[in-house]
Amino acid sequence: MSDHDQQPYRHYVDGEWTTGESGETFESENPATGETLGEFYRATPADVEEAVTAADDAFEEWRAMSYIDRAEVLWDVYHELRDRTDELGEIVTKESGKEISEGRADVVEAAHMVEWAAGNARHPHGDVVPSEIAEKDAYMRRKPRGVVGCITPWNFPVAIPFWHMAVALVEGNTVVWKPAEQTPWCGHTVSEMMIDAGVPDGVFNVVQGFGDAGNAIVEDERVSTVLFTGSAEVGHKIDEKLGGVPGRDAALEMGGKNGIVITENADMDIALHSAVMSSFKTTGQRCVSSERLIVHEAVYDEFKAEFVDLAESVAVGDPLDEDTFMGPVVDEGQVEKFHQYNDLAREEGAEVLVDRAELDPDEIPDGHEDGYWIGPFVYEIDYDPDLRCIHEEVFGPHVALMEYSGDIERAVEIHNDTDYGLAAAIISEDYRQINYFRDYAEVGLAYGNLPCIGAEVQLPFGGVKKSGKGSPSAREVIEAVTERTAWTLNNSKDIEMAQGLSADITTSDDR
Ligand code: ADP
Repeated sequence: MSDHDQQPYRHYVDGEWTTGESGETFESENPATGETLGEFYRATPADVEEAVTAADDAFEEWRAMSYIDRAEVLWDVYHELRDRTDELGEIVTKESGKEISEGRADVVEAAHMVEWAAGNARHPHGDVVPSEIAEKDAYMRRKPRGVVGCITPWNFPVAIPFWHMAVALVEGNTVVWKPAEQTPWCGHTVSEMMIDAGVPDGVFNVVQGFGDAGNAIVEDERVSTVLFTGSAEVGHKIDEKLGGVPGRDAALEMGGKNGIVITENADMDIALHSAVMSSFKTTGQRCVSSERLIVHEAVYDEFKAEFVDLAESVAVGDPLDEDTFMGPVVDEGQVEKFHQYNDLAREEGAEVLVDRAELDPDEIPDGHEDGYWIGPFVYEIDYDPDLRCIHEEVFGPHVALMEYSGDIERAVEIHNDTDYGLAAAIISEDYRQINYFRDYAEVGLAYGNLPCIGAEVQLPFGGVKKSGKGSPSAREVIEAVTERTAWTLNNSKDIEMAQGLSADITTSDDR
């Protein structure tokens, strides 16, 4: 057993496994069983400061390497992710409670992000831009911004960190990463991979801990960019702190109150399949999960009957079992929030259609009695702009069915009545309805005849309205971690200006 395998597990700062200054620790828990998975040192703001110093010191040397050389290091990270997919996928499932195919997919998505970032290094970069002056060459260049702070959530504990870090590193930034407090073992395993791949000391640093450590990253002026994925509440606080501070910036990806519109021209099998996937996959704990199903009156009764049947029967169970559709939720706080919102829906007049919120004891797998188990909660409610239950994100299998009458414009009006704007889907066989939705649904990610989940790294990912700002994720993170320079070089010995501006220097003697 090597040094870093011993518990409590340590932070990784400046090429060393470190304990931090306080000696305080916390535990990672398996949400399916309640068992402790490991003990970890908990970072204080002073530990974060040390990690930022390491990243700051390592920046000059890392940025001086060629793109391609940096990408070669990331290719070795890619192979680590590929070689250890099953092992890390199981760790994802044990720490987050996501079923095992999702655990593995999380690692595969991370590998895809590294593949994209490292592959991109060998592609042409920037634009050559014509100048009015024949002797001038003008083109766009990108520079790394410096130390990038990555603050990530538990629900994609490997993929999201790589959305942030892969491009940030290839572009020449150095990184201080704080994994979510629920998934530190994933953070630890990723650190091992970075070391085995030979990422230079100080270029990649991990501090394990809670919101106070995240906040210390945000408050450190040497961190030029904060990439954050998590709750709207925390994201907006970060934005308030960094918004308008010269030289510092944040890119934020937050939650949603995502909806699916099912029109009178929907294919019913596609509608049901998409609605079940969007509502219950990951036990409703994706930032793109759907909590609102907006269904046309002509197909409402048929859809409702079949959706209710499916919601009554989706398999909740041990996430390590290949036949499970829904695992537990991540922690006690999430169980409580779910029940509170179910109660709120009832108070606001919901007609409850499926109530598996408290699972029967025989639905809970043996040996898993201490896990955080809930099941689908489905209700119908008349749309009303004042209802909280159809406007606030629950982050669980809490699903509202709303009937609408009229045309697609009405469905989109109901759909857009939320402060969020992350993901949405339309189910219809009518291309005019689909195109209207595409053009007017206020979201960053929209799908036609598909679930509203299913990101791929080569597509941009991000929300509008309260759901996001900047691009902390997937392809467009490049905008967040670089600064562009419009560079112009004169090939002549004479200086000539655009727009007919005189370049003559006149002196008082010329007058
Ligand atoms: P979730 O509800 O998905 O857990 P959070 O926004 O609470 O989302 O957490 C996402 C990440 O933000 C986690 O790594 C968490 O520790 C971190 N975090 C929580 N509070 C703060 C804060 N005040 N400043 C910076 N990071 C924070």
